[in-house]
Amino acid sequence: MNYKISRRAAALSPSLTLAIDSKAKAMKAAGEDVVGFGAGEPDFDTPDHIKMAAVKGLADGFTKYTPSSGIPELREAIAAKFKRENGLTYKPSQIIVSNGGKHSCYNVILATCEEGDEVIIPAPYWLSYPEMVKLAGATSVVLETSDRTEFKVTPEQLRAAITPRTRLFILNSPSNPTGSVYTPEEVKALGDVCVEKGVLIMSDEIYEQLLYDGAVHRSVASFSQAHFDHTIIVHGFAKAWSMTGWRLGFLAAPEPIAKAIDAVQSHSTSNPTSFAQKGGVAAISGSQDHLPRWLAEYAKRRTRAWQLLNAMPGVSCVNSKGAFYLFPNIHRSGLKSADFCARLLEQEKVAAVPGIAFGADDYIRISYATSLANIEKGLERMDRFVRGLQKS
Ligand SMILES: *Cc1c(COP(=O)(O)O)cnc(C)c1O
Repeated sequence: MNYKISRRAAALSPSLTLAIDSKAKAMKAAGEDVVGFGAGEPDFDTPDHIKMAAVKGLADGFTKYTPSSGIPELREAIAAKFKRENGLTYKPSQIIVSNGGKHSCYNVILATCEEGDEVIIPAPYWLSYPEMVKLAGATSVVLETSDRTEFKVTPEQLRAAITPRTRLFILNSPSNPTGSVYTPEEVKALGDVCVEKGVLIMSDEIYEQLLYDGAVHRSVASFSQAHFDHTIIVHGFAKAWSMTGWRLGFLAAPEPIAKAIDAVQSHSTSNPTSFAQKGGVAAISGSQDHLPRWLAEYAKRRTRAWQLLNAMPGVSCVNSKGAFYLFPNIHRSGLKSADFCARLLEQEKVAAVPGIAFGADDYIRISYATSLANIEKGLERMDRFVRGLQKS
């Protein structure tokens, strides 16, 4: 049998992160003492009041189809969050709840982009964006940045990349994989260019709450009515509420785009899981008391990891201002990032994600969503590894 794979599916790159991850997991299963810095998820448990709300939903028989874009109660709670925390006025009809923030991103790209369209993506980027653009049949235009500018694109860079075919600019602050956070002034300046040129912005704000050193998050939608009209905000429950496995995310969009996305979703996944949505209401409307504790813990780990990385010969690392990642520069090791990570795992049993997966081969991604003890143990091993490279 000759299985014909569609052009859309065949064009996708298999995930490098998954390759490293499955190798690390196999080593762990074989009893090896692997330290994992690969995780893209919090190591904290979902807060109890959120779990109990979902359990209650199940017990009460809330187990049937819901409206495809989410239950009114949750869409109203999300609209209230945008009003309360971001000063943004959305109608519940502009909010679409999906099966994870990743699904929200995919819906946005599928509903707005097609063959012939260009999507501008700053690198280092979250690795799914370019693949989603491919799936929509559109073309990615990647803007390079480096640690010298804290991985931020400038308005001039953005302006120079815009063509008559540009449809969407993807902004992700705080950023996965770098932890970089744009200041409000920087966000506004990028938004100004998009407004002037009539380019839509997909603003992925899923790490909004995870900020350090007094960094401030301001949504690009908040600067003027024109900014608001050009922006689609993607967000979700995975990071600030540690709900990665629940598959629950949301977006806020101008009405015609929300309508189109609802149509796409109604014919693909239908509604996000009914009782998970009950948990979502508790997450967004209930106590946020867990957050200061988590942030204090992340901040401690970040500082320690940053110190240990910068003490390694040939490694330099700018400190992150958000999310739970550091993105050290390993260029002076003389190794490509995939090689570096493969050998680090092989020799020292430390798993990290090669920067090439995010479009930046001079770096690796270290997630500090793991205990301080793990950070010290794993980075001590990495220190030995890079010192060994220097000798050879
Ligand atoms: C984690 C993450 C998401 C969404 O994750 P879900 O688990 O699908 O909610 C979206 N964007 C970025 C940059 C992320 O790191």
